[in-house]
Amino acid sequence: MRFDLISIFPEFFAGPLDHGIVRRAKEAGIAEIHVQDLRQFTKDRHRTVDDRPFGGGEGMVLKPEPLFEAVENLLGHEVGDAEKRVPPEAGTTVVLMSAAGRLFTQETARRYAKLERLILICGRYEGVDERVAEFLASEELSVGDYVLSGGELPAAIVVDAVTRLLPGALGNEASTENESFSSLEPSAQGGTAAIAHPRQAKLLLDFPHYTRPAEYRGWKVPEVLIGGHHAEVAKWRRQQAAEKTRRNRPDL
Ligand code: SAH
Repeated sequence: MRFDLISIFPEFFAGPLDHGIVRRAKEAGIAEIHVQDLRQFTKDRHRTVDDRPFGGGEGMVLKPEPLFEAVENLLGHEVGDAEKRVPPEAGTTVVLMSAAGRLFTQETARRYAKLERLILICGRYEGVDERVAEFLASEELSVGDYVLSGGELPAAIVVDAVTRLLPGALGNEASTENESFSSLEPSAQGGTAAIAHPRQAKLLLDFPHYTRPAEYRGWKVPEVLIGGHHAEVAKWRRQQAAEKTRRNRPDL
């Protein structure tokens, strides 16, 4: 799968996407991550990407022209004008990172992991000219109910969450099925695919994990995990996951 990140701070991504699973996925050719410097798509001497807002008010707004040209350059064709819009080809989605977007969830990540290509636009300053949301991006996406200073961290979050779902990225194929937000019964599935209708289904958080030492400062690992009785362990994990979900995320 190919990711294209469009940003005025392309060097931002050097750290976050160079470790662990994402790094291995890149090295294995499972994920291809390209970063586009928005200023490359400006035409003036000062490489201007922003301007003052119509109607007045604080701050600056990212101009539409460089963003449209950056995306068109990636798609290899124009996206059209008011009369004639040309959507990106099937398998490609253009996403605008935005605090005012729809909430990014594990379900969104699963949907994106089926794409061939994801183009992520990172906003800055007060945000992005609305015509980008209306006529260039197919979706506006928020990573949570808080305001960050740029779309780069949110875009890195999306790349990470999607990449670890790509076949082969984790090594152990079963691992993503037993994680938080994956299914009603995380530990009991034993390799079955995630449930068919995640939207209607109840989601469960992960169960607690323990490793050695079996006793640390007097705090003992739950007895059932040490016994080696698989069915008992599975049952305990289901119960713990359900309890943790009720406690931490009753909304799920
Ligand atoms: N004025 C905007 C915030 C702009 S923050 C508002 O009130 O909604 C600048 C940029 O950071 C945004 O254009 C967006 O790309 C990014 N950003 C900030 N918070 C975000 C979030 N929760 N999710 C995704 N992107 C976010």
